[in-house]
Amino acid sequence: MGRETRARIDLTALQHNFTVAAERVPNARVMAVVKADGYGHGIEAVAGALAGHTERFAVACIEEAQRLRKAGISQPVVLLQGFHQAGDIASCCELQLEPVIHSGQQLNALSSTPPDQPLRIWLKINTGMNRLGFSPSAADQVIALARSISNVTLAGLVTHYACADDRNDDFSQQQNDVLAAISRRYPELEISAANSAAHFRDELDAFDWTRPGIMLYGATPMTSQSARELGLKPAMSLESVITATRMLAPGESVGYGASWRAESETLMGIVCIGYGDGYPRHAPSGTPVWINGQRTATIGRVSMDMLAVDLTPVADAKVGDPVELWGQHIPVDEVAAHAGTIGYELLTGVTARVPRIYNGV
Ligand SMILES: *Cc1c(COP(=O)(O)O)cnc(C)c1O
Repeated sequence: MGRETRARIDLTALQHNFTVAAERVPNARVMAVVKADGYGHGIEAVAGALAGHTERFAVACIEEAQRLRKAGISQPVVLLQGFHQAGDIASCCELQLEPVIHSGQQLNALSSTPPDQPLRIWLKINTGMNRLGFSPSAADQVIALARSISNVTLAGLVTHYACADDRNDDFSQQQNDVLAAISRRYPELEISAANSAAHFRDELDAFDWTRPGIMLYGATPMTSQSARELGLKPAMSLESVITATRMLAPGESVGYGASWRAESETLMGIVCIGYGDGYPRHAPSGTPVWINGQRTATIGRVSMDMLAVDLTPVADAKVGDPVELWGQHIPVDEVAAHAGTIGYELLTGVTARVPRIYNGV
C-alpha cells in the first residue's frame, strides 16, 4: 500500500563496516559516530546494530544523545560540540554524556557552575582545522583548568583532520604531530584524532580512540578510492518504482525547463522519487540509476516528487518495476559526484517522507 519509495537499511553491512574500521586500527578503540540521525539511516536502529560492537558513541548534540538514551543505549556518548547552554551540564551528568569542550566560554561555564555529579569531559585541540578548539599553545593551561573543576574528570584530547580524505596531503601529518607532542606530556590522557578517512592513512597515528562516521554507512571517505575498493558495503539502498512510461518522439522534451530533448525515439519512465525525498535536484541528466538488472540514467530535471529515466536500454521495463537510485549497484558516491556533492550530504539528506526499512539484526 502507499507509495513504494523507501530507504532499505542493511544493518549487517553496518556491522561489517564497523569491523573494517576496527581492523584498520588494531591498537585503538573505535567510537561509532551516529550524528545526523545516523547519517540518515535512523539513529536508534544504527546504534542498536552497533551496540554490541562499539564501546562509545559520538553525536553532534544533546538532542541526538537523548534519543540514544531513550532507545536504551547504555554506552558513554561523546558530544562532539560539547554543550550549548549552562543548563545542559546537568543533563550531561544525568545521561552520562561526555562533552567535548572546545571554547573558553564552555570551560568557564563549567568552572563557574561545577556539576554536582561526576562528569567526564574531553578537550578539543585545534591543530589546523580552525573551526573549533583550543590552540596547542594553550593546552597546558586549559588542561590544568579543566582538572581543577570539582566533579570533572578530563578523559582526553580530541582533534579533527581537515584533509585526511586526500591520500597525498601532508597537512594531516602536521596535525597528527601537534597532537602527539601534547600527548607525550600527558601520557595518561586518551587521544582521539581519526575520522573515517584517517583509517586509510597508515602513516597517521590511530592514537587511543578513532571516530569513524561515513565509512560505517558504506560510503567512501576518500577523494580517490571507492567504498568498494576500501572493502566497505553500502548500508542504504534508496529505492522506488516506475509509476508511468511514455514513448517520446525525437525532439520532445521532458519536465521543467524542457532541459532535455529526445534525439531519437525514447522510452521514458517516471520514477516516484524527487528532491522532496532527498534525491538531489542538482543531479543532471545522465546520473545513473539501476532498473531490472540494468544501469541506465536520469533525463531532464528532478522534480519534487518524481524524476524521469531513460528506459530505452532496459529490457521489458514497465510500470511497477523497482528502481535503485543508490545502494548495491549504484554507489551513493557516484550519484553525489554527478550532483557536485559528497555521499555524506545525500545520505543525511534523505527526508522524513521516506520510510526506513531495516534488514538484518
Ligand atoms: C562527523 C565527525 C566525525 C566523523 O567523520 P567522518 O568523516 O564521517 O568519518 C569525526 N569527528 C568529528 C569531530 C566529527 O564532527
